[in-house]
Amino acid sequence: MAVQTPERSVVTPILSHWIGGQPIAVPLDATGPVYNPATGKVIARVPRGGKAEVDKAAEAAAAAFPAWRDLPLIARSNIFFAFRHLMYENREEMARLITRDHGKTFLDALAEVERGVETVDFACGLPVHLAGMMTPNVSTKVDAYTMRQPLGVTAAITPFNFPVMVPCWIYPIALACGNTVILKPSSHTPGATQLQAELWKAAGLPDGVFNVVYGGREAVVAIVEHPTVKAIQFVGSTAVGRYVYEEGLKRGKRVGSYTSAKNAMLVLPDADMDLVADSAVASGYGSSGERCMAQTLVVAVGDTADQLRPKVLERIAKLKIGDGMAPGVDMGPIYAQEHKASIVDWIAKGEAEGAELVCDGRTFTNPDEPEGFFLGVTLFDHVLPEMEIFNEEIFGPVLGIVRAATFDEGLALINGHKYANGTAIFTTNGGAARRFRLEVDVPMIGVNVPIPVPVGYMSFGGTKQSAFGDLAMRGEDGVRFFTQQKMITERWPEPGQQGPLSLVFPGNS
Ligand code: NAD
Repeated sequence: MAVQTPERSVVTPILSHWIGGQPIAVPLDATGPVYNPATGKVIARVPRGGKAEVDKAAEAAAAAFPAWRDLPLIARSNIFFAFRHLMYENREEMARLITRDHGKTFLDALAEVERGVETVDFACGLPVHLAGMMTPNVSTKVDAYTMRQPLGVTAAITPFNFPVMVPCWIYPIALACGNTVILKPSSHTPGATQLQAELWKAAGLPDGVFNVVYGGREAVVAIVEHPTVKAIQFVGSTAVGRYVYEEGLKRGKRVGSYTSAKNAMLVLPDADMDLVADSAVASGYGSSGERCMAQTLVVAVGDTADQLRPKVLERIAKLKIGDGMAPGVDMGPIYAQEHKASIVDWIAKGEAEGAELVCDGRTFTNPDEPEGFFLGVTLFDHVLPEMEIFNEEIFGPVLGIVRAATFDEGLALINGHKYANGTAIFTTNGGAARRFRLEVDVPMIGVNVPIPVPVGYMSFGGTKQSAFGDLAMRGEDGVRFFTQQKMITERWPEPGQQGPLSLVFPGNS
């Protein structure tokens, strides 16, 4: 494919909003710092946008909408194929930018980009996803059919922890459906967003179809209150997600908020304990525990906790913590200094609540990068359901073992939790796994899989306090969310065959 990567510098010291297909520079005093958490140093500055920038982006998106909506589907799809090609070609640079801003390891960042590409792959098939249903001859000379149409200007508000994958779960679907977009990414990890905007332009996306406004609360409020914005998908914490959902709904918008989580894996005594220990460590500590699908509670049935604990400790002892760009590093720093402080507080709280602190991440230091936001991994045992460390999301490398006497007790603990995003069962018993997937009250389920993020062409979303709204992100639900379905009933009577006037409700003859 003859699509060229645009020229750009690897590090952009001052990022710009992206509105109407152009970078919109801002003065230095309208920006905030972006840190490399591995060094603790400021590596870029990000604009603090607000109402004025959202107004401009909404205006550009509204102006671009009619032509984008009317572009023939194959022409639209071709732009997606070109973007997909560029994104894959630039995956290593994207991953470097993610690691630089977030701290996760380079290989983890690369996997994130590849999982983001999956949704773009799905979006490339937009002519098929937008197909309606037709039933001819539902009545005499009457045909019935459906069609899906875009909503107009839509918005995506996204978190720090997956700066490429999570935005790609939302905005490519919105664009594929013929909408225009304002993306408001997290100001903590903005680097890879600028690159995405440049790649869309290089792929041939018309100016104004995809816009980026950086900022925090002020920008989010401006999006939620903007009358031009028809639909919003939000990913982030429950407190902010609930606000976006409730305030957006009040203004007649379509809103989906996908929010915080506390995921638990159920371990049955017949499970392969080495697989379980690998899975618990990978899921609990990968990306410093900053994944909404991390299983940070291990609900161990019967005597499995006693078997598991030494195996987990054996693996913890071998973990290498350091700069995510360094080869062989398993876990990078925490993304922000204030978040590290909050995780430290949670560890103290767990101790005070009476959980057994088996491994204390607070003791870790990194002499190579003393200013970096590093924290070691923490393991608690004997976590009880009444403890806050059981009930609340910590979003850090803190794993807790909960002991349950039976399968039913373990299942009840998971089903009683206020969050419901992902869960998993580890067993060699197919019948137990089957019962679990039928009875567990959590929508994304792994069977011997610790991070059960569904593939990019399926939908993704939780329930309870982990999501607000009726539809999940991406996949079939994503297409439904970002389109309005019309139902058409059409009749072409032969001249003179209309029949007599009748006030009877239309039947089917
Ligand atoms: P966050 O709620 O702090 O931020 C999310 C977005 O909201 C960002 O764009 C941010 O700039 C904006 N924001 C922050 N504070 C705001 C405020 N007071 N008012 C308005 N807007 C505000 O979340 P985060 O810390 O970036 O991300 C971590 C959270 O996201 C965790 O709770 C995690 O579980 C969740 N998450 C959920 C999913 C999911 O699919 N359910 C996926 C990834 C992350």
